[in-house]
Amino acid sequence: MTPGVEPTHRIAELTLGALKKIGLPASARNYELWYAHIEGKNPALSRDIQIAADSFGKVSQGDADRLYKTHIQHAGLSNDVIELVTKFQSEISGLYDMIEQTGENAVDHRDTLQSLSDQLRQTTEDYPAVGKLLEGVISVAKDMRTENEQLENRLAESVIEISVLQRNVENIQEEAMRDPLTGVANRARFDKALDQQMANATATGAPLSLVMADIDYFKSFNDKWGHQTGDQVLRLVAEVMNANIKGQDVLARYGGEEFAIILPETSAENAQKLADRIRNAIESRRLKKRRTEEDLGVVTISMGVSAFRRADTAESFVERADECLYAAKDAGRNKVVTETDLNGKSAKAEKGAA
Ligand code: GH3
Ligand code: MG
Ligand code: MG
Repeated sequence: MTPGVEPTHRIAELTLGALKKIGLPASARNYELWYAHIEGKNPALSRDIQIAADSFGKVSQGDADRLYKTHIQHAGLSNDVIELVTKFQSEISGLYDMIEQTGENAVDHRDTLQSLSDQLRQTTEDYPAVGKLLEGVISVAKDMRTENEQLENRLAESVIEISVLQRNVENIQEEAMRDPLTGVANRARFDKALDQQMANATATGAPLSLVMADIDYFKSFNDKWGHQTGDQVLRLVAEVMNANIKGQDVLARYGGEEFAIILPETSAENAQKLADRIRNAIESRRLKKRRTEEDLGVVTISMGVSAFRRADTAESFVERADECLYAAKDAGRNKVVTETDLNGKSAKAEKGAA
């Protein structure tokens, strides 16, 4: 991934070997001079080295200093070295841009950056004359890595903050859809859920039933035992209903002492069975005043069940369940009435009238 590093390593090795052979110390200057010679890109230097070498191939330090002054000092850094450094710099700054743009890959890029820095360090060791320059590049890379770590931390913090906010918003939305007294869905959620389930039933053709329930003689219960005890009864009724529903069923407090249950994929017949089970469960509870344990007797509920029809609006669907509920009240309360019961009754009444 970093072309240019391997060849420089080889030249570095040859350079060190050559300095040893000709009896010169591996000083920064000597190193740079012989590196340029072995690299083979400075024929004038290579020719002068041949001339300076004695019959044993040795070059004196004096000659080396002269050659350095002539061929290196004024020539500045070799083009290859400048190219190499430039390449590293541009690679690192390109990486930094990528890190800024794609936070999620930041860790990978940081590792690449680290390995590039390590390679740069190695190159510096191999080539002391350009050490300062490369050190500069490494320190820039380090700065960028630090900045990148800060960016990563900021991103991570932001992700946490956002998810906390998200949860708060969800909780608030959840609260806004719940009846505070009983904890079941409120009217707003009921309306939404009913629309959804009606659309579902229309699309799938699956049955959909609706139960409307109303506590019997609740006004007199309140009058006798007080509003707070009445509230306790509302909670109990919600609890019993909730214990009898499942899955996608939606229990809601429709208003005052009225509850509604949406029953997806449930026939009117099964809805009636469920409603009767709830009615029976509530009737069976012997109520006691919370602190005094005083016997409050029993409460009962009346219920009406309607079955969804394709032509229904939410209003017509609820209205039919309400008609059944009124019929249950009329029939003496503590009863469940379905549309079939109602139609049978009105058919009978018509027959009787005839
Ligand atoms: P019916 O059998 O015909 O339904 O008679 P009812 O007395 O239950 O009917 P009505 O509509 O006359 O009275 C409803 C009562 O429900 C009136 C009100 O005091 C009570 N109520 C409504 N909301 C609440 C509530 O949040 N808490 C309490 N404790 N009572 C409530
Ligand atoms: Mg009522
Ligand atoms: Mg009532």
